[in-house]
Order: sequence, then C-alpha cells, then structure tokens
Amino acid sequence: MHYLVTGGAGYIGSHMVKLLFKQGHQVTIVDDLSSGHRDAVLGGELIVHDFSDRAFLDQLITEKNFDGVFHFASKILVGESVSNPAKYYRANSFATLTLLEAMRDHGLNHLVFSSTAAVYGEPQSTPIDEAHPKVPVNPYGASKLMVEMMMSDFQRAHGLNYVALRYFNAAGTDAEGLLGERHEPETHLIPLALKAVLGQKPPLKLFGQDYDTPDGTCIRDYIHVEDLCSAHLLAMQYLHGGGQPTAFNLGNGAGYSVQQVIDVAARVTGKPVPFELAGRREGDPARLVADASRAKSVLQWVPVHSDLETIIRHAWQWELKMVAQAQEKNI
Ligand code: UDP
Repeated sequence: MHYLVTGGAGYIGSHMVKLLFKQGHQVTIVDDLSSGHRDAVLGGELIVHDFSDRAFLDQLITEKNFDGVFHFASKILVGESVSNPAKYYRANSFATLTLLEAMRDHGLNHLVFSSTAAVYGEPQSTPIDEAHPKVPVNPYGASKLMVEMMMSDFQRAHGLNYVALRYFNAAGTDAEGLLGERHEPETHLIPLALKAVLGQKPPLKLFGQDYDTPDGTCIRDYIHVEDLCSAHLLAMQYLHGGGQPTAFNLGNGAGYSVQQVIDVAARVTGKPVPFELAGRREGDPARLVADASRAKSVLQWVPVHSDLETIIRHAWQWELKMVAQAQEKNI
C-alpha cells in the first residue's frame, strides 16, 4: 500500500512512519517541520510542505495515488489553545477540512485521524467509553471534535471511510531507541520528570496533591506510542476490510498517578526525581482513564508495551541517547 502520513516528522507520526516502513508499505510524509524533526523520518519520502495547501494536495494525490491517509499533523498544546484559539481552529479544524475536500474530490476514501480524549471534556463517568458525552473544555479538544463531526458528515454525504482514534496519554518511545519525544516547549509529565533527573530542566512541578484519588495526585492513562501505532495500522486494515466509520479510545485502561510516575521514574533511572509541590493546573480532571475495550474487540488490538515501567524505561533510553549525542557534538 502507499500511504500519506501528515505530521510524520512529529512524535507519534514518526513512530507510525517507522512501523509502516517496516511493514513494507510505501510512505509519503508531508510535514512543515513547524514542530517535527527531519531526522525523525526513518523511511519513505519526506515532503516539507503545509498539508493544507489545496493546489499542492491536488497534485500530490493525483501523482501518488494513495491507498489511505494517516492524519497526525496538528497543534497540541492545550494551554496555548486557550490563549490563541484561532491558531487551533485554523491548524486543526480548518486545515483538515481542506484535506477532506481534496480527498473527496480525488476519491481518496480511507482516513485514520489522530483525535484525543480531550473531546470528552470533564469526565462524567470513569472509565470513559466512546459513548461518553463530548463536551470539550478547551479549544484543542473542540478543534478535534469539529474534525470528527466533519468526517461524519463527509461519510454521510460522500462515503468517506474514517476511524477517529482518541488518544489518552501518549508516552514512551520505540523499543529500539531510534525515535523519541522532542516537543518544544515540553509540557508532558514523563519527559519533564526524566529531564529533571538529568538536571536539564528545573525540578518537576507536581500539579496538585489534593485530588480525590488514593495518593491525592492526578491519574492518567499512559499508552505506549508503539501500541498507539499498532492500533493505527489495525484501524486502516479495518477500513480496507470494509469496517464502518467509527471512533475508538486508545488507552490501556489502567491509570497511574503522577506520584506513581515519579516513583517508577526514580526506580528506572536509579536516581530520585527532583520535584516540588505546585498548585493544581487549570483544567486538569482528577482521573482520566480509557475504556478501550472496543478497540480491543473490534480491531483485535493488543497493547504490549503499555505498563508504566516499560514506557519510562524506553523514554529514559531516549533521553540518555540525546545526552550522549550532545556530548559527542561538543567533543
Ligand atoms: N503534570 C505535573 N507536572 C508537570 C506536567 C504534568 O504534575 O510538569 C501532571 C498533570 O497535572 C497531569 C499529568 O501530569 O495530571 C499528565 O500531564 P501531561 O501534561 O503529561 O498530559 P495531559 O494529561 O495534560 O494530556
């Protein structure tokens, strides 16, 4: 198969490209490198371009005759989406509308879309299944939900086949240690904890210790990036096999608290994680845990790397590799 991967130089997209390539597929990556990294693309053809340029898309789709699209390219900072909503509606919703129109006009019908648990908003029940009300509490979640609504309408009107994958907390890096998380700015718990161990970042700020959870810190569902990618591949195969357009949660169904992450990070690195107590971060629910049983039963998806220890071990391997590379450059 020949697949188009938007955002394939980013964190999750680059892991997807690696998987597709390993499986023998042809891959064309479109990434404007606004947050991705050229050296994260381990296979396929990278085209550095804005995926939402309609004339470019028309030419690309005509030329390459893709069998499907994995659409990762998006802005992902929740806080920034609150202060600059236009950026999110433009980059995540409006730009994707252009992609959908181009796909429609060229008869390119199979789309696996990176959605998010943020479409659900404040959890009304836990674990969260796909039927949970969708009431996003920030423009990031709203911008992704809008795409889900557009895809559903395109399905009705034009026969688009799509799967929306609602990620919980993507984490970890590939087991071989070739790829990793390189966000700028970094806001995610696990890389910040590990960088604090290395002294590259200040002590981790632990956001809130007074939540209604066993140890008082927030609980999240961390899912290994390679497990996320295997679900994408299964979702595309599901579409090619005639599966109905739908959405799946991707999480491992086991929540871990911030304190547990700190404890496991200390065990894996062999060093204490420097941290200080901070107030609650705005918009953080106490507990976000997926009911991912639909993805498991319909797609036969089996997450294999998503225990916290493995996730942190892989992430630590990547951080150490980055340190070694920086040292080599300085020699
Ligand atoms: N968190 C924290 N300190 C940080 C970053 C995150 O205590 O510097 C907490 C955050 O409050 C949440 C969990 O770690 O409960 C995961 O946050 P992250 O930003 O990694 O992912 P999110 O759940 O926001 O998608």
